[in-house]
Amino acid sequence: MDLGISGKRAIVCASSKGLGRGCAEALAAEGVNLVITARTAATLNETAAYIRDKWPVEVTAIAGDITTVGGRKEVLAACPDPDILINNAGGPPTGDFHDWSIEDWMKALNANMLTPIELIKATVDGMRARKFGRIINITSSAVKAPIDILGLSNGARAGLTGFVAGIARKTVIDNVTINSLLPGPFDTDRLRGNFEAVSKASGASVEDIRKQRAASNPAGRFGTPEEFGAACAFLCSDKSGFITGQNILLDGGAFPGTL
Ligand code: NAP
Repeated sequence: MDLGISGKRAIVCASSKGLGRGCAEALAAEGVNLVITARTAATLNETAAYIRDKWPVEVTAIAGDITTVGGRKEVLAACPDPDILINNAGGPPTGDFHDWSIEDWMKALNANMLTPIELIKATVDGMRARKFGRIINITSSAVKAPIDILGLSNGARAGLTGFVAGIARKTVIDNVTINSLLPGPFDTDRLRGNFEAVSKASGASVEDIRKQRAASNPAGRFGTPEEFGAACAFLCSDKSGFITGQNILLDGGAFPGTL
């Protein structure tokens, strides 16, 4: 299927690794020119070089923290009028809510709720004026089924989801859709980090936790960044203008609800 987005411009936040990188690669494969971001310049530049080598697209790498005003400013200066915006940032740490201070909450809210809202605010009016826009927020399955040790994520991402539910119904009149992708367990550094936290708390080895978690998923495995990117690219396509305000779970069937 031709997704009809060749030549479009995308900002893909937090995309040197993992799910963000999966999205960047899938968009590049469709001919989308990219601005990719991450804090660590070396890894980011390697990813940019890999993508440029594999697909004939422009890739601009902006090293910086997307959760800061300055970091966002640099990204928007590199691409002030994107057609596609993929909101993503590192997830908050695991822990027990008794230990979290207001500062811990502000950090999580800033990264996983306010940063995407700021980037939407900066880009959505231009998309509406140009009559094409696709905004995807990478959130978490925790939006649908909270994960006890990830309370900061449960809370912050639910806030973003509520906000987006309101505006996604306003922008679609101008062919600007806003949707969220909710990853369940995907095989990335982030998931490995969560296993390490569980291992510390439980005493079980990381490898045993990994095997047990993979086996407990209905698919018998974790998802891959490539699968995640493919779903993202479809939602960014010119075929998906009638899908907006949706929260799409990619979890191998782990969520047990009928709907
Ligand atoms: P990952 O493999 O650890 O990759 C995270 C990427 O984001 C890296 O490129 C990282 O590079 C970049 N990054 C992190 N913080 C950043 C910041 N402040 N500014 C700019 N770039 C930043 O993580 P992932 O698994 O892809 O997870 C992506 C998101 O999905 C996270 O919010 C995570 O909580 C959520 N999620 C993941 C899973 C899963 O199973 N993997 C499940 C549910 C939710 P630098 O470190 O160099 O900045």
